[in-house]
Amino acid sequence: MGQIIKGKPVADAITEELVKDVEALKAKGIAPKLKIVRVGAREDDLAYEKGALTRMKKCGIEVEVMELAADITQEEFVKELKGVNDDTSVHGILLFRPLPQQLDMNEIKYVISAEKDVDCISPLNVAKTFDGDKTGFPPCTAQAVMEILHYYKIPVLGSDVAVVGASLVVGKPLVSLLIQEEATVANCHIRTKDSSAYTKNADIVVSAAGCAKLVKGNWIKEGAVVIDVGINVDKDGNMCGDVAFDECVDKASMITPVPGGVGSVTTSVLAKHVVRACRQINNI
Ligand code: NAD
Repeated sequence: MGQIIKGKPVADAITEELVKDVEALKAKGIAPKLKIVRVGAREDDLAYEKGALTRMKKCGIEVEVMELAADITQEEFVKELKGVNDDTSVHGILLFRPLPQQLDMNEIKYVISAEKDVDCISPLNVAKTFDGDKTGFPPCTAQAVMEILHYYKIPVLGSDVAVVGASLVVGKPLVSLLIQEEATVANCHIRTKDSSAYTKNADIVVSAAGCAKLVKGNWIKEGAVVIDVGINVDKDGNMCGDVAFDECVDKASMITPVPGGVGSVTTSVLAKHVVRACRQINNI
């Protein structure tokens, strides 16, 4: 049976480092702070917010939540966001997506301050992510996958990787992060004729498609590392990933569970980004 690689040890290791970093900043009179901007009260936003609040507290990072009405106008929203940009006590901004339909992300992504944009909404951070510029902020989930690979010492350089899913939030930036570490990456998406043709040959398979139990046992090769980013609900109402875990666990050398895998690392990466944003803003 493959090793089940959990997110908690990874999150704990990141948190342990951050506690020291935050203490050092506080000793200089600087208190890192995250502002969460939430429009409405969607259940999944609230669940993520709860996790983020707990993680920030563990790291000693201050956090405030701005809750805006679900029917807020574009003009009002932009005004509020600019206010957060201008608040010098705030170093990181987390904006929950997707936003309600009346809000135009194409304008908003240019409004959020790139230096405080800790989850890669600003086109400048998208560009920096693809450029390998370490002053940028890749999306927390894509970075969380990299943190898991590093923590469990999974070789990336020279490996064949298949990433299933090509969104700008997970799949595409992850492909870029992997290529920067010299992996050879195949990227599958909804129009890929046969994703299994790529996953079958991969040393590492990452699935971020949002499709319950998509990756079957016969989609992976013996000894592959399987990282499951998906968060789905199965037909019995239980949370599950993109990977048919029971079919893959015996064949894989390492596999992440859902829940308890990638999701538990994401808020630690968020905290890491807030601390780095704070340092960069203060030229430390
Ligand atoms: P998305 O819907 O924006 O993108 C899904 C991508 O997968 C698209 O590129 C699509 O072409 C591809 N895809 C869909 N079905 C496919 C199929 N059958 N075969 C191949 N490709 C397919 O979703 P997203 O925001 O990128 O999220 C993906 C999944 O990751 C979701 O389950 C989401 O809940 C989860 N997620 C988890 C975390 C976390 O912290 N663990 C964070 C963000 C998203």
